[in-house]
Amino acid sequence: MSQPSPQPAPAQKFATRCIHAGQHPDPSTGAIMTPVYMTSTFVQSSPGVFKDGYDYARSKNPTRAALEANLADLEGAAHGLVFSSGLAAMDCVLHQLRAGDHVILSDDVYGGTFRQLDKVFRHLGVETTRVDMTRLADVEAAFRPATRLVWFETPSNPMLKIIDIAAIRGLVDRHRSGPASGVRDAGLGPLGQPLARAVLVVDNTFASPYLQNPLAQGAHIVLHSCTKYIGGHSDLVAGALMTGDEDLAARLKFTQNAVGAVPGAMDCFMMLRSTKTLHIRMQRHCENALAIAQHLAKHRAIEKVIYPGLESHPQHALAKKQMRACGGMISCIVKGGLEASRRVLERVRLFSLAESLGGVESLIEHPAIMTHSSIPPEARAKLGIADGLIRLSVGIEDVDDLIADLDRALV
Ligand SMILES: *Cc1c(COP(=O)(O)O)cnc(C)c1O
Repeated sequence: MSQPSPQPAPAQKFATRCIHAGQHPDPSTGAIMTPVYMTSTFVQSSPGVFKDGYDYARSKNPTRAALEANLADLEGAAHGLVFSSGLAAMDCVLHQLRAGDHVILSDDVYGGTFRQLDKVFRHLGVETTRVDMTRLADVEAAFRPATRLVWFETPSNPMLKIIDIAAIRGLVDRHRSGPASGVRDAGLGPLGQPLARAVLVVDNTFASPYLQNPLAQGAHIVLHSCTKYIGGHSDLVAGALMTGDEDLAARLKFTQNAVGAVPGAMDCFMMLRSTKTLHIRMQRHCENALAIAQHLAKHRAIEKVIYPGLESHPQHALAKKQMRACGGMISCIVKGGLEASRRVLERVRLFSLAESLGGVESLIEHPAIMTHSSIPPEARAKLGIADGLIRLSVGIEDVDDLIADLDRALV
C-alpha cells in the first residue's frame, strides 16, 4: 500500500508534471503504472488499525489517491478530490450551503449546472441569481448579505465568454456577508459551521489546467468535468474539485465520503493514463481550433465565429492575459438559421454529431436543440444562443481533413 508521493519540486514544468505528479512505482512490484486497485476494503491488523488511511474504498482508494494527487498538482492545489461525474463534484460544493444562502451564477453555463441549482437546491432553499459576468457592475449589484457562492465557467458554454477571474475575486473580497444562515452545530462535524464568507468557484472544464489555473488567479475552488479534456477520449464520466484552502478541503473531503459519489478504480486509472498526454492533446486542440476559427471567419456561409483567439472576440485581450492559449471550442452562427445549421450537422462526416466535448475526436452539436434545450427560448435568445448557432469541439485529427469536412458540409 502506498502513499501518494510528495508533490514534485515546483521547478518542474507542466508537461513533466502531467506524466509524473502524484505517481511512483508500485511498492510491491515496481510496476511503473499505478495499479488498478479493484478492492472495496482493506485488511486490518487489529480493529481500527489500517495503513495510510485505507480502511474502505469509498473513503480512500490508492488508484484514486494517485489521480487526486496528480490533478491537484496540475491545478497548483494542495488538495484534489475526484467524483463520479462533474455534477457530483458540483453537488459536493453545494452541500456546503444552507437554506437561505444565495448563489451568484454566470448566465451562460452548462445546462446541467443551472438545472442542479434550479431544480434541486432551489427546492432546498438556496436562491440563485444569474448574471452576465463580463459586466462587473452587474456582478457587484447581485451580491446580497446571504451570498455564499459565486460560480462561473470561463470560457463559458456555449458563448465562450471570458470572465475575469481576478476581478471577480476582488468583488468577492469586497463583499461583506451578513450573519450566516443556520446556527453552528458541532454535531454536524466539518459542516457544522455555516460558510462565513462568499466562496468563488471556477468551472475550468473548457480550459483544462493546461490553459489556466484559476486558483492562482483567485478562485477558492476549481471544478472539472473530467469527462471532457482531462479524460480526453470520450470513454468515461467523472469530475474533480481542487482547492488550496484547508477549511474548504476538510469540508469537501468530509462530504465526498459522507455523500459517496466516488468513481471506480478503473476510471481513475484511465484518467491517470489520460493526464499523461494532456499537454500535447491540448496543444493540438488549440492549434487546430485556431486554424479552423480563422478559416470559418472568412467563409461565406458563416455569419459569425465566436472564438477567444480571434481579435473579433469581445474579450480577446482578457483571454490572452488570462489563458496560455484559447482552447479547442468554437461556436459559430451559420447563415440561414435553423434549417441551414441542421443541414450542416447532417452533412458532416468526420465531425460526429454528439453532445459532450474535449475528446480526441471532433464533435459538432446544436446548442438550441441539444445541450441547451432546457433553457427557455427567450432566455436562449437573450444569451445569444441563436437557432443557427453550432458548437464545435475540435479534436486532434489532421486539421486539413477537419477543414475539408466543414467546407463540404457548409456548401
Ligand atoms: C459536462 C460539463 C459539466 C458536467 O459534467 P458531467 O461530468 O457531465 O457531470 C459541468 N461543467 C461543464 C462546463 C461541462 O461541460
